[in-house]
Amino acid sequence: MPVSISSLPIVSGAVERRNSRLVCMRYGTREVTVGAGSPIVVQSMTNTDTADVIATAIQVKELARAGSELVRITVNNQAAAVAVPQIREQLDKMGIDVPLVGDFHYNGHTLLNDNPECAKALSKYRINPGNVGQGAKRDIQFSQMIEAACKYDKPVRIGVNWGSLDQNLLARIMDQNASRSEPWTAQAVMYEALITSAIENAHLAEEVGLAGDKIILSCKVSGVQDLIAVYRELARRCDYPLHLGLTEAGMGSKGIVASTAALSVLLQEGIGDTIRISLTPEPGGDRCKEVIVAQEILQTMGLRKFAPMVIACPGCGRTTSTVFQELADNIQTYLREQMPVWKKIYPGVEGMNVAVMGCIVNGPGESKHANIGISLPGTGESPAAPVFVDGEKKVTLRGDRIVEEFQAIVLDYVKTHYGKETSEA
Ligand code: SF4
Repeated sequence: MPVSISSLPIVSGAVERRNSRLVCMRYGTREVTVGAGSPIVVQSMTNTDTADVIATAIQVKELARAGSELVRITVNNQAAAVAVPQIREQLDKMGIDVPLVGDFHYNGHTLLNDNPECAKALSKYRINPGNVGQGAKRDIQFSQMIEAACKYDKPVRIGVNWGSLDQNLLARIMDQNASRSEPWTAQAVMYEALITSAIENAHLAEEVGLAGDKIILSCKVSGVQDLIAVYRELARRCDYPLHLGLTEAGMGSKGIVASTAALSVLLQEGIGDTIRISLTPEPGGDRCKEVIVAQEILQTMGLRKFAPMVIACPGCGRTTSTVFQELADNIQTYLREQMPVWKKIYPGVEGMNVAVMGCIVNGPGESKHANIGISLPGTGESPAAPVFVDGEKKVTLRGDRIVEEFQAIVLDYVKTHYGKETSEA
């Protein structure tokens, strides 16, 4: 029997976030909170040699200016550990107060112990429990890193990665599985090992003395369905805040699509308190792309607002010039570049929508739904571009200065609608 449309339920798109503890990262007066319903935090990681103080400080600045709220740097050797407080100092001179996260593997216990200034300069430590030592040394070295976190009052992310899973723990889970009357699949055993590693190490950290509200967990894998399955179960078994990310997501559109597919499902289920998009940049490519993708995932899902959104049609055979693409690209770049300043002086501007449409078919209609919209002339249409402001046609642009004139209209709208004097009036 056919289902009538009117009998279908109306489903709300609102996301109910999972309950979790609240963890704070601090630097100076800057405080970034993760978990307990706080806004989902965007973070990123540098790919410079940490020992190169200037190059790393510049990249941290770029990532922070792009909107990264935490920036992770690898602390892989003595030179990197010595460089960390110097990087912090350079950032201070540039007025960048983004909290730094130190990424430790293998020798983290030694580096934190030997370099107290490094330990102090970082706002969080990331520890991979699969890479902290073998055999009896593993728990000792892990505990030494946790003791450093306690001593310097720093939160820790216990970050499990399936590429570096604790082999002893995996062997134990496999042995347990072998004794089952109906053994699990190899995939289920892997999931269980990842989750167990995160939770057991969190409990060990608490036994060593780290407060429960200083712990964030992650279990990163590189397959979309694997990530979803692992995080659903991890979320069910604990109330630590969760860091989401598809590890080794890859390059270009594949990396973006895979990360978006995996994270969107989990975020929609309320799982995830901080995210990082692990994109492989093109050689010489912009590292900040991972920040923009993370923001766009959150903003397009309606979970946070970072910068005005540009709604643009894809174009089709009705658009025979490149003016439409150029205007969409120009206005999107312009809006994003203004945000470091605009977010301070034009509060709320990040919620603005701008529509750039290629012809009269959907142009006026879509433009009317945006704060500001422009409908460019398609093939055979009169060479005029009507501009709509808050649903009303305001002006029609003509000639070869449409891009500049439209940008001026956008700036005027921002000043009059989001200026502090306007909002206080
Ligand atoms: S708005 Fe016009 S140009 Fe854009 S996709 Fe639709 S028909 Fe094509």
